[in-house]
Amino acid sequence: MSEQSSAQEDPQARLVLRAVLRTDVGLVRSENQDFGAVTTKREERSNPLHGRLLIVADGMGGHRGGATASRLSVQTVKAQYLGADTGDVGAALRDALARANEKIYHEAQANPDLRGMGTTTSALVVRGSEGWIGHVGDSRIYRVRAGEIEQLTQDHSLVATMVREGLLTTQEAETHPRRNVLQRSMGVAEGVDIDILGPIDILEGDTFILCSDGLHGVVKEPELREMAQEPIEKAAEGFVRRALERGAPDNVTVIVARAETTVEPEEAIDDGLDETQPLDSLELADLDQGSKQTAKIPVVNPDPVPVAQPEPPASEAAPEPELDPDNAPTAKYPAPPKKSRFFKWPLVLLLALGAAGAWLYWTQPAPAVASQAPPDQNSAH
Ligand code: CA
Repeated sequence: MSEQSSAQEDPQARLVLRAVLRTDVGLVRSENQDFGAVTTKREERSNPLHGRLLIVADGMGGHRGGATASRLSVQTVKAQYLGADTGDVGAALRDALARANEKIYHEAQANPDLRGMGTTTSALVVRGSEGWIGHVGDSRIYRVRAGEIEQLTQDHSLVATMVREGLLTTQEAETHPRRNVLQRSMGVAEGVDIDILGPIDILEGDTFILCSDGLHGVVKEPELREMAQEPIEKAAEGFVRRALERGAPDNVTVIVARAETTVEPEEAIDDGLDETQPLDSLELADLDQGSKQTAKIPVVNPDPVPVAQPEPPASEAAPEPELDPDNAPTAKYPAPPKKSRFFKWPLVLLLALGAAGAWLYWTQPAPAVASQAPPDQNSAH
């Protein structure tokens, strides 16, 4: 039942975190500016802190900038964390995020093409029965435990602040036109406030969802909680598919991870990975074909940092239950209509209507209306 009873049955029993990462460009954007990583077993063993590190980052800032910022953040956080010389996981996470912030900022200063780029970053480390979180921005980390879902991170967004201050309801925030505006993000200034949480307790069966707003913007907590009961591969794929069904206006990235009990000795666990795979190889379209492709996101900073590490189903995995019938289409994913033209025609129509409206407005005498919106430091993403 609980982790205690499992541990009592076998003194060798301990908790391991299995994780899968899925990402998709979505149906509207032309480029995936999200990035994510999960450390490999080999990396975890080489790191004195051990533990499994999971990261999701959602970049913003013009052509090239967003994808560069999120990739730089994930690569830097991972490399810094794995090279940490402290026994304190929370401190190591804080240092890793701070270093990533500096690196993105300086890269942006040095390269006019990248000026103003930034990214969210949400990282979770789980080591045995303890976990830590490092977080900036509005990507989220949820924990699903005993059928209840809890958002462990706090959004650093304008609307989240307005909700906290009682100026908006949660429902109003979800459709607010400025819901994408961040008040804190990585890489836009030389320093950044980093939320560090932990150690938090980890129980057997705890399921963690790390995701960009491309998921949590269109799939809400009751559904996340429900789908998180599934085996993690099916849950992650289901989340992305659900976002696609809702039009996926933004890039969608999710890591689903679950604490499970194992009696296998640590050295016996081998995920078969030495080197990391390009994140893009796990895009849904590629998964359909079971193929791997080379990275499509240009690597701007050719650092000798391991490329982001999505993890295949781990070898310690128990056999997965069959897909249930109401959720088992012939293909694992219905092929998403990538960059659908359907989304372009309403846009053209909307622009035409807008132009006509503007013409009518300017040709009629009308009272002056001014926008009271205060300027924000950070751009939408
Ligand atoms: Ca996003």
